[in-house]
Amino acid sequence: MALRITNVSMHRVALPLVHEFQTSSHRKSSIDHILVKLTSEDGSVGWGEIATGSDPFFAAESTGTAWSIGDRYLVPAIVGSSWTHPSETARLWNRVRGNYFARAGFDMAAWSLWAAAQGHSLSAALGGERTEVSAGVSLGIEPSIGSLLDQVAVQVDAGYERVKLKIAPGWDLEPARRVREAFPGIQLHVDANAIYGPDDIDTVAALDGLGLSMIEQPFGVRDFATHALLQSRIETPICLDESIETLDDVATMLALGAGRIINIKVSRLGGLTNALAVHDLALRNNVPVWCGGMHEFGIGRLANVAISSLPGFTMPSDVSASDKYYARDLIDPPVVARAGMVAVPTLPGLGSTVDEEFILASESQRLDAHV
Ligand code: MG
Repeated sequence: MALRITNVSMHRVALPLVHEFQTSSHRKSSIDHILVKLTSEDGSVGWGEIATGSDPFFAAESTGTAWSIGDRYLVPAIVGSSWTHPSETARLWNRVRGNYFARAGFDMAAWSLWAAAQGHSLSAALGGERTEVSAGVSLGIEPSIGSLLDQVAVQVDAGYERVKLKIAPGWDLEPARRVREAFPGIQLHVDANAIYGPDDIDTVAALDGLGLSMIEQPFGVRDFATHALLQSRIETPICLDESIETLDDVATMLALGAGRIINIKVSRLGGLTNALAVHDLALRNNVPVWCGGMHEFGIGRLANVAISSLPGFTMPSDVSASDKYYARDLIDPPVVARAGMVAVPTLPGLGSTVDEEFILASESQRLDAHV
């Protein structure tokens, strides 16, 4: 049955973080995302989330550019469109290059609407098999090693089985070594967010031997060559994050041996349709994947939970509980973790109620379009 989109809205909402977060490039105390709501003629509703950074420091996009692309190209393309499967929406904006985060919000909304209209959970609509997914947490660069060790202890006590540390020049080998010493049994990995250059290869290689489950994106976004050189020298698997925006990037990684693990981010890949395609290609090549987060609010977080239920997601994902990041989430019930596991919702669509009243009360910018 074809679904015809009659109403589209975008809502820009900022929520304060319960704990400030520092990466190799910047510090954040609140998160500013755009929510996308689609309504079809039969009354079905879907929500998506554009989880850009406020600034173009992780990817080239920012909240402002995503708003502009949504306003000028994506909203006009989808309002009035008819389609029978969410993957067909890609053709609506096939002339728009890049802008993966903006496209992801609309693709995600189309998937959650389609799942709701079919009476299926988003997980089932995607082909998910797991009833619960293993959650890991990501810790930012802390003011001191003491406060980092305190943070790790809190998360290990909460039952998370994997802890990821953000690293940067001057905050790499020593914090990783100290956490490893204090917590010898946990799955530990580090993420550099592309901050190192080819001249730093020995610094990064020195992390080999700490029993890390992976070293994530040490080098530049387009620098497959240095990743391949490092991978040939060390035992620890390299995981690519920022480098993987398209299926072609996965092919490049495989051809060059530039990594052995992929961080699948729904936003960075332009939505669930492409995330699913990258998952399938990785599975065929025996490359394990996990789902990375962008500090999503509940809507994007539930999409991450749903895709993490697919069979190739064999490593813990960044799908930790809503309350690790936000005092109040936009969904009811929020995402909850028990002993490091998050249950995959079984209700139709996203699986939680979107708190539209809270969104309307919190939004700083809004756009409505209808046929
Ligand atoms: Mg990363």
